[in-house]
Amino acid sequence: MINHSSSYWELSTYQANSDFLIIGAGITGINAAITLKSMSPSARVVVLDKGSWGDGASFRNAGFACLGSPTELLADMQEDGIEAVMSIVQMRWNGLQRLVSRVGAPAMELVWCGGTEFFPSTHKDAWEKVGDHLSQLNKQFASLIQGEQFVCDVPDPGFRQGVGQVRIKTEGRLHPGKMMHHLHQLARGLGVDIIGGQAVTGWERTGSLIQIRTQGGQTFHTHRMGMATNGFTPHLVADLDVVPARNQVFLTEEIPDLSWDHTLHVDQGYIYARRIGQRLLIGGGRNLDPLGEKTDEPGTTKQIEAYLLAFVREHLPVAQNIRFDSCWSGTLGVGTKKLPILRELEENIFAAVRLGGMGVAIGTLVGDDLAHLMLSA
Ligand SMILES: Cc1cc2nc3c(=O)[nH]c(=O)nc-3n(C[C@H](O)[C@H](O)[C@H](O)COP(=O)(O)OP(=O)(O)OC[C@H]3O[C@@H](n4cnc5c(N)ncnc54)[C@H](O)[C@@H]3O)c2cc1C
Repeated sequence: MINHSSSYWELSTYQANSDFLIIGAGITGINAAITLKSMSPSARVVVLDKGSWGDGASFRNAGFACLGSPTELLADMQEDGIEAVMSIVQMRWNGLQRLVSRVGAPAMELVWCGGTEFFPSTHKDAWEKVGDHLSQLNKQFASLIQGEQFVCDVPDPGFRQGVGQVRIKTEGRLHPGKMMHHLHQLARGLGVDIIGGQAVTGWERTGSLIQIRTQGGQTFHTHRMGMATNGFTPHLVADLDVVPARNQVFLTEEIPDLSWDHTLHVDQGYIYARRIGQRLLIGGGRNLDPLGEKTDEPGTTKQIEAYLLAFVREHLPVAQNIRFDSCWSGTLGVGTKKLPILRELEENIFAAVRLGGMGVAIGTLVGDDLAHLMLSA
């Protein structure tokens, strides 16, 4: 059949057959590509993304390098059991170590600032429950962290209407844009082709190759294909246990006397906040409208904006007339389980999706595992 959309030159370079093709240039996909190319230097490795550089959570998250807050861990333990939760914590820990060794802390502005879980006065029951279970949680963390990971405390001066807080020892904040930029540069330096503006719409098999179609009418042929499409996966594969969940983020105007340095969690991580220079980032609130936020459409809502602004004004050590001056949203991939889906879906087609709210911590590890799976098939 005559190809009308690409030149001979494009077909023999960007669109030349690849050994491995990854869909998704986020933290999972790019780490998979880095590992594929490192372990198989002569292989042609291509990454396609629908965005210019990536349209997913990796460029839009809050940049917490974290292992979990007490209320989140206790809720998960109640649901899935201690062993399962601690194996996820171990994954987060290993993933963060690997991310730091690959990117380097300065390149992504990683600061181990420590964290806080804050309990508003209305969350007295949760505060008491955490108090009852803190020594048990610390015992679970003893093999990972020297000293106590969690310490009960009274709220910092300046925090208002709180019943208590827990200090989290090992936790950091980083710049996700710089993290991803560095990972993209690493991949390109190894010879990976990262091609933006290519929304994959489907594929079919042609002999031993998989032919991938994109919205613009281009085709790409590969021997093995990996999907690292996280919350967007339902557009490509309908029967996997992964759905999108939008997460909204707001940034305040500059706060000249902002001295508060740690990361902040509230209510099982449904609210989170951190500083960026002299500004405060706050995000979350999707539990207010679980159905409405089950979408991969970008956007913010008045309801969640008002809720988060009221939280800042009511509880945080900032002026009462503080305002937001920018916002964005990102798409999580979630499902009935917290662990990612990592497997071969059909011959030579693989998936590493459903990174939940912890992809900064585990994305490097999951990407590497995807690469190993693709290499060993
Ligand atoms: C607002 C927000 C705050 C968060 N905060 C934190 C945090 O502080 N700490 C933490 O550990 N985690 C956090 N997360 C979660 C974390 O960002 C994600 O788990 C992680 O980035 C997932 O990485 P990924 O590479 O698997 O997916 P993504 O980064 O979502 O990448 C998937 C890529 O696939 C591409 N794609 C999808 N479909 C197609 C298609 N059909 N064709 C071509 N390309 C396609 C997308 O454009 C996208 O670039 C947060 C997430 C959000 C949304």
